[in-house]
Amino acid sequence: MSREQKAVERARKAFLTGRTKSLDYRITQLKNLLRFVNERQKEIAEGLKKDLSKSEFGTPLYETLGIESEINQAVSKLKDWAAPRPVTKNLLTITDQVYIQPEPLGVVLVIGAWNYPWAVTIQPLIGAIAAGNAAVIKPSEVSAHTAKVMEDLLPLYLDKELYPVVTGGVTETQELLRQRFDHIFYTGNGTVAKIIMEAAAKHLTPVTLELGGKSPCYIDKNCDLAVACRRITWGKYTNCGQTCIAPDFILCEPSIQDKVIEEIKKNIKDFYTENPKACQDYGRIINQRHFKRVMAMLEGSTIAVGGENDESDCYIAPTILRDVKPDAKVMQDEIFGPLLPIITVSGADEAIKFMNQREKPLVMYVFSQDKKLINRMIAETSSGGVLANDCLIHFSVSTLPFGGVGNSGMGSYHGQFSFDRLSHLRGCLIKQLKMEGVNKMRYPPHTAEKLGWARFLILKQVDFGSLGRLALLALLVVFVAVMLQRYTD
Ligand code: NAD
Repeated sequence: MSREQKAVERARKAFLTGRTKSLDYRITQLKNLLRFVNERQKEIAEGLKKDLSKSEFGTPLYETLGIESEINQAVSKLKDWAAPRPVTKNLLTITDQVYIQPEPLGVVLVIGAWNYPWAVTIQPLIGAIAAGNAAVIKPSEVSAHTAKVMEDLLPLYLDKELYPVVTGGVTETQELLRQRFDHIFYTGNGTVAKIIMEAAAKHLTPVTLELGGKSPCYIDKNCDLAVACRRITWGKYTNCGQTCIAPDFILCEPSIQDKVIEEIKKNIKDFYTENPKACQDYGRIINQRHFKRVMAMLEGSTIAVGGENDESDCYIAPTILRDVKPDAKVMQDEIFGPLLPIITVSGADEAIKFMNQREKPLVMYVFSQDKKLINRMIAETSSGGVLANDCLIHFSVSTLPFGGVGNSGMGSYHGQFSFDRLSHLRGCLIKQLKMEGVNKMRYPPHTAEKLGWARFLILKQVDFGSLGRLALLALLVVFVAVMLQRYTD
């Protein structure tokens, strides 16, 4: 039996003991995870420094603060999330208990990516724990130092049987994928996502796919360009452009292109100094394979700012490309690096058309003072999420679902969305073995009169929220009286 198979079997056995059914048990595990994050900041930061040259203060800001916030929310809200959720009833079920009961799915496989290796691996894990599942955690082998920290230290804090960490590369991931899971939560690229879905289909396992894509950023000329460009500079060059929700490219009118370039250039200097290579807040490309991939995208486009690079250090300077052609190499795939192409369009109409001719992105960015234009862009395009007049920060709002649509992914998470995604929302109806007279209308022989009653009782929705208790009682009395009169002998 392989190591991967053993880990999954052990997790399933632990799940079947039923210990995750207890909300207190889940809360203890979540608190242990929080303690891990707080006590192991040093090891977490050291791993990320080696993997991606992340800075001492950048690590908590971009990786662990979000984890802390998600844990705090799950701990404080878990009782509400896990409680039965009463639903609106029809007249036929008015005296029954009708509700949704979230229940754990079983064993979840969490496969993480390398760019924010803690955030994208641990945040789904928080949802899995909160929902009462076991979870096999597979960190990305590309961020190898972080994977090692996870493998060595997480088991010191979490239930080792329920939440094993399995490290390794493609071979190990594929061995895991041969096992049966109750949900696979994958973060990464679309090509591998297809392999994941194919493997999941063999066991009819549901999947969540958190992917990327080319998130467009339209800058309206009716806009405070200084503020817009500062926010875009931050959104684009954080983590050296290796952010799934980074603005991939800019769309703007030709009349503002020079000003946009000038403003972004100014902000690059403000954020990362004249020499970003020596600035501790400017990261590195994860490895030489990705360095070569990003550099090859420059072919055929005009560099307006940046372009300096050093392969031995995986360094690519913050770069802006001007007057980029829609069919240029840099416009073929998600960039996932510090290149910012600007494509000029005649205005919002052409920008919307441009977006709609391409795959649905993870985010649609729009910068404008004009609320009507923002609403129009939202109404006439489709994307995983929308952010107007800022970058990245929607990721930090736990009450918003985070996820893609179409090619940018399927299924969303964060906060209660993670809990619901990794739960089975079980529909429950509990009747009493009384009032059998009411049911006569559904038993043969079927007649037109019985059908009439069925129509009335089934189609009439009762919203308990808007009814006073007395009105409800009166309705019930009338209903029961009528039914008894009609159908009792
Ligand atoms: P990656 O190379 O780390 O791959 C992700 C996982 O897939 C790893 O755990 C790896 O072991 C596994 N894997 C790789 N090849 C495999 C194969 N052939 N068979 C089975 N498993 C395999 O990460 P990546 O894909 O380079 O990540 C970057 C992508 O992730 C970008 O497209 C980015 O936009 C996206 N992303 C999305 C989000 C999001 O939340 N939507 C977050 C981060 C990254």
